[in-house]
Amino acid sequence: MEIIDEIKEPTSTNDPDFTMSREQNPTSYKFDCGTCNNQVEIDFQRQISNSWTGKSEGIDEGDFKSLKRFYNIGSTQKSHEGGQPVFDKIDCSTCGTKYMTYCGVREFSNSAYYVQVQGILRIK
Ligand SMILES: [Zn+2]
Repeated sequence: MEIIDEIKEPTSTNDPDFTMSREQNPTSYKFDCGTCNNQVEIDFQRQISNSWTGKSEGIDEGDFKSLKRFYNIGSTQKSHEGGQPVFDKIDCSTCGTKYMTYCGVREFSNSAYYVQVQGILRIK
């Protein structure tokens, strides 16, 4: 994994992009592809589903370690705002540019989650 640039940087502020208890939630976080300006989407439900393993299947162990190192996720294994870090790999559907995304996921009550998009990296 080679990082080209950082589209979004993490913050320790707790400011969820998705909260299950909120009405009329968006189902995904959209950002502009850094290459073609098409919209790329981070699906919130997918991040919640991956919160047990901390990553999607497309991310191998080497990249998983690199991502945790890059974001300084140490022995506490907490995301910047205090949730569970979850990484995903997404391709732009128009131009194929690859992204690694980093979200914080927290179960704040029984089966109710929030998702906060923390980081987006354009990679090669
Ligand atoms: Zn693109």
